Amino acid sequence: MTDAQGRICPVAFIGLGMMGLPMASRLLAAGFEVRGVDLSSDARAAFAGRGGLAFATPCRAAQGAAVVVTMLPDAAVVREALFGEQGAAAALQPGDLVIDMSSSAPLATRKLAEELAPIGVVLIDAPVSGGVRRASDGTLAIMAGGAAEDVERARPLLGAMGSSVIPTGPLGSGHAVKALNNYVSAAGLAAACEATLVARQFGIDPDVLVDVLNVSTGRNNSTELKMKPFILSGTFASGFSMALMAKDLRTAAELAGQLGVEAAGAEEAASLWTRASSALGRQADHTEIYRYLAQQGRKLN
Ligand code: NAD
Repeated sequence: MTDAQGRICPVAFIGLGMMGLPMASRLLAAGFEVRGVDLSSDARAAFAGRGGLAFATPCRAAQGAAVVVTMLPDAAVVREALFGEQGAAAALQPGDLVIDMSSSAPLATRKLAEELAPIGVVLIDAPVSGGVRRASDGTLAIMAGGAAEDVERARPLLGAMGSSVIPTGPLGSGHAVKALNNYVSAAGLAAACEATLVARQFGIDPDVLVDVLNVSTGRNNSTELKMKPFILSGTFASGFSMALMAKDLRTAAELAGQLGVEAAGAEEAASLWTRASSALGRQADHTEIYRYLAQQGRKLN
């Protein structure tokens, strides 16, 4: 993204966690001047170690920046980073762009755009899929909601972080698609975990089950990329927390409710993952749903 003189604009990047750090690093590698922000001093130090300028408050990072990218836990934290104490909005100018790449809630995103409009700042939502590995490779799938011209304006920057940038429609549609994607993904993972627990109980080698699924109609992203590396290996180290997955599932179920669409599966998934997250704690990886399901099964036996 360049200014009228063709210079690459400074970008304030808020949230340097599991995803934000590698994404901001891709922007640095592409030549953008990136002003990174995080509450955590460790995260700021990691970003500085990669050659970025690190700030403790969004307001300071946004001084002189034309674009603000947020990669934060949820919609409430995004709003706080923009409008809370030391928030970025105070430093923004008319014509500046905010890109929320977090997995936020679609209707909260529309409300946020209404709050930014009086100061002349435009919002698009551009959440991502692909996890830490694809964030590091710069090959994320990016689903972008907002006015077509605003999404096009952001494309050079998004293209530095992802290999596909898919316009999804009006503002909030990226966040809706992301929540729905994670519902489908979580349902596939939970089904694969349950099937593995049943197979084990029957005396079937779990590796054999996963091999069969992967050449059969039960194959999905989790059977291919999660079951062996993170679950059967026992590492549970995918880099995506259970708390964040539970939040995405609640977003999908709530959206269905807000729209009056019957979505019993989404409600069940939101309830299951929320219970699992409470039982296993905030540090749990989302692949530990397997451990939770195994524990629940033992309680019944
Ligand atoms: P994370 O918890 O690792 O990182 C969040 C970062 O935000 C942390 O470093 C935290 O210190 C910082 N933070 C929190 N509040 C802040 C504030 N007010 N101001 C500044 N910094 C603040 O989370 P993550 O896994 O990087 O996920 C970020 C977003 O991306 C979430 O919305 C998540 O659902 C989504 N997501 C994650 C993955 C994944 O694989 N981890 C994949 C796709 C999408």
